[in-house]
Amino acid sequence: MRRTHRARAALAAAAALLAIAAPGLPAAARPSSTLDPPSASRGAAGQGAPLASAPTTCPAPPAGFVVQAPGTGKGATVATVALTFDDGPGPADLQIAAVLQKHRVPATFFFTGEAVARNPGVARQIAAAGYTIGNHSYDHRYPNAVPGGWSINFVTDQIVRTNAVFAASFGTSSCYFRPPGGITDNVLAAARAIGVTSVMWNVDTNDWRQPNTTTRAATDSIVQAATTVGQEKHPMVLMHSSTTPQVANPTANQAASGHRGNTVAALPQIIAWYRAQGYVFVDLAGRSAP
Ligand SMILES: [Zn+2]
Repeated sequence: MRRTHRARAALAAAAALLAIAAPGLPAAARPSSTLDPPSASRGAAGQGAPLASAPTTCPAPPAGFVVQAPGTGKGATVATVALTFDDGPGPADLQIAAVLQKHRVPATFFFTGEAVARNPGVARQIAAAGYTIGNHSYDHRYPNAVPGGWSINFVTDQIVRTNAVFAASFGTSSCYFRPPGGITDNVLAAARAIGVTSVMWNVDTNDWRQPNTTTRAATDSIVQAATTVGQEKHPMVLMHSSTTPQVANPTANQAASGHRGNTVAALPQIIAWYRAQGYVFVDLAGRSAP
């Protein structure tokens, strides 16, 4: 019995290695059908917090921006990593979630209210699969596209309107706000006043710049950037599952492709690298998978 078990484990390891050695098309080409609901056994087995239950009340917002991955509750010595995906929901979100599910990795998706209104079905599936949803403004307008810039009232309205769309689409609003472009104007004041935590990142993959096709070079570039963490024990990795309409963000998106195949293709390698370094994956709520 033990030998059989060991042989199976070796086969699984070999398959995993093969998957890592052949990045790109297989993962990207995987059909993005329905996602599994969060596994009930995950929590029941005591192997980490269940991902199913969304928080009903938000934690008190800190004074500043959150830039690091949360700890796990097992002590500050445990290295943690948070994968985050901005600008969705769009077609790639389900592919990304399928890869995450396969590797049992929690993550956070920062959706815009406008994109959820356009793709409520995708948003519902991502939320129902147990991922943490963050608020990424209503329509991703930069200050130069807003008369008067980002006033406190403007930022507040963007967060509140988006949370209303979230609640209507998948039943919960978000405790986390990541401002478009990482712009800070009046963000802390507005978000804190309504009990929402403001979130940035400390590792930027620059995957929003990827070309319109999936290529080895573009995928490798994302893997390289995502795994360049220096001595950081709590990387918060910025990736993009979609793109925002050019009209909402004329300057920033001029060079951006909406293609996300390279992000999808890079994910298994990024996950394998962090696991090999001993990092525990967490979402913004600090929940970890087994
Ligand atoms: Zn964005």
